[in-house]
Amino acid sequence: MALTIGVDVGGTKIASGVVDDDGRILERCLRQTPADNPEKVAVTIADVVSELAGRHEIEAVGVGAAGFVDEARSHVRFAPNLAWREEPLQEKVSELVGLPVVVENDANAMAWGEYRFGAGRGETHVVCVTVGTGIGGGAVFGGELYRGRWGMGAEWGHMQVIPDGRPCGCGHRGCWEKYASGSSLLIDARASAEADPSSAVHLLELAGSVDVLRGEHVTEAARNGDRAALDAFDSLAQWLAQGLADLAAILDPGRYIIGGGVSAAADLFMDKVRVAYAERLTGRGHRPLAEIRVAELGPSAGLVGAADLARQR
Ligand SMILES: [Zn+2]
Repeated sequence: MALTIGVDVGGTKIASGVVDDDGRILERCLRQTPADNPEKVAVTIADVVSELAGRHEIEAVGVGAAGFVDEARSHVRFAPNLAWREEPLQEKVSELVGLPVVVENDANAMAWGEYRFGAGRGETHVVCVTVGTGIGGGAVFGGELYRGRWGMGAEWGHMQVIPDGRPCGCGHRGCWEKYASGSSLLIDARASAEADPSSAVHLLELAGSVDVLRGEHVTEAARNGDRAALDAFDSLAQWLAQGLADLAAILDPGRYIIGGGVSAAADLFMDKVRVAYAERLTGRGHRPLAEIRVAELGPSAGLVGAADLARQR
């Protein structure tokens, strides 16, 4: 049986695992990301690969990296949350571990994992939207991962939806991810709580102060019926639906998969997203409605997808 290792390198954690050709994870390994030092990141990846490869017969390694990966799938050109700049990650790791290595953008790897083994199974045209602190994305069209000309496609989060809107980490303003993500939930809930503390009784109780508000506070307050938190989720649902309708105008997918940390609270917004999406779709009533599903592989999607991309290298 062909086994590969998938490694998902995020801003804080490096999650890795041995994956079989059915997408099953046979063994896992988790390390902290030495985010400020590219050399240490490569060495840490090599360490976990060597450890796992010592116990399993491994044929290749797939690395999902939170950054822009070039078209040759060898360099990470830029990473907003790590110190990678024109980093030859593929070569470094491959030399250290003595195995073939494939590097892929982490959201692309996640989309591939869901397409192969999760919520995308059975559909040929899949668009993945990962809703976390920001919005990431990936797409599979006709059974192939869409990477764009230079490997930098599917960054839906930075479509500018409001000219001169909220400032974004990318340096521009008004990006979609500032209105439909974990960070927008915080911005919206905080604004409501400050304007009307009586709408945020649970929220303020949970957080203590709006200055230290976290995503889980907003989720729990929404489940407890706080108006401020529910409104924040409503706003997220409307913006998410608008973005999906816009993506349908461009890409016409058969299925959307909504993943990322915020999708753990999918019960608070997904039904509204589906209704609003149908309302906003151009040509509605005269075209099939793409399904909108919640991701199935959770935080393992990137690791499983990267491992499978290594197998198919
Ligand atoms: Zn942006």
